[in-house]
Amino acid sequence: MTQALYLENSYRKECDAIVVSVKDGKFIVLDQTIFYPKGGGQPWDTGNITKGNEVYNVVYVGKFSGEISHEVDRESLREGDMVHCALNWERRYKLMRSHTAAHVFASLLCEGTGALVTGNQLEEDRIRFDFSLEKYDREILNKYVDKANGLFRKDIPVKWYELLREEALKIPGVIKMAEALPPDIPYLRIVEIVGVDKQADGGTHVRNLREIGQIKLLKTKNKGKYNRRVYFTLV
Ligand SMILES: [Zn+2]
Repeated sequence: MTQALYLENSYRKECDAIVVSVKDGKFIVLDQTIFYPKGGGQPWDTGNITKGNEVYNVVYVGKFSGEISHEVDRESLREGDMVHCALNWERRYKLMRSHTAAHVFASLLCEGTGALVTGNQLEEDRIRFDFSLEKYDREILNKYVDKANGLFRKDIPVKWYELLREEALKIPGVIKMAEALPPDIPYLRIVEIVGVDKQADGGTHVRNLREIGQIKLLKTKNKGKYNRRVYFTLV
């Protein structure tokens, strides 16, 4: 099982690794990785894997039957190769800032209006957020954007740690989305924005809300009677 270094330290930009297996020439499994695989509403990391002076661009990272698979743009890595991994940090850092921002916004909106989160997808340049709420308008949303931006000016730490599943499930609102209920594992990873939110989450986050900057509402859409879709961006 690949050691997922991004879960412990989301700021790690490089690591050495050993190729554990290669499938169809281009799908690489490593003994450890800093590359985040697509999942939980967060896109995959890009970057490169180098062996000596050969450079392999990482174009996709996914999880298949529990294994983290890195798709590279050319063949010739072999099992047992010693390689070096480097992230496209600009992309990843933006996704970390967006991901933490999405948790703050969701938490404020749900607490303030009783809205239910039904979906959440980060993209490199925007954050999509689906929720169910009967009464709503742009004013209401802007109010929560302003609230979130207020918190992003404060020195508020973000922590992540594991909790026994049964302890974790006692935290009110720890699972924001029904379909996100994690698999039957003994420990859940909790992402805590101190004093704001605690969620079971496997994504990568910033360590302090001050790193986010500010967010701006881009557009809103009605998707049926109670379903709303909104887009934000970091500014
Ligand atoms: Zn999340």
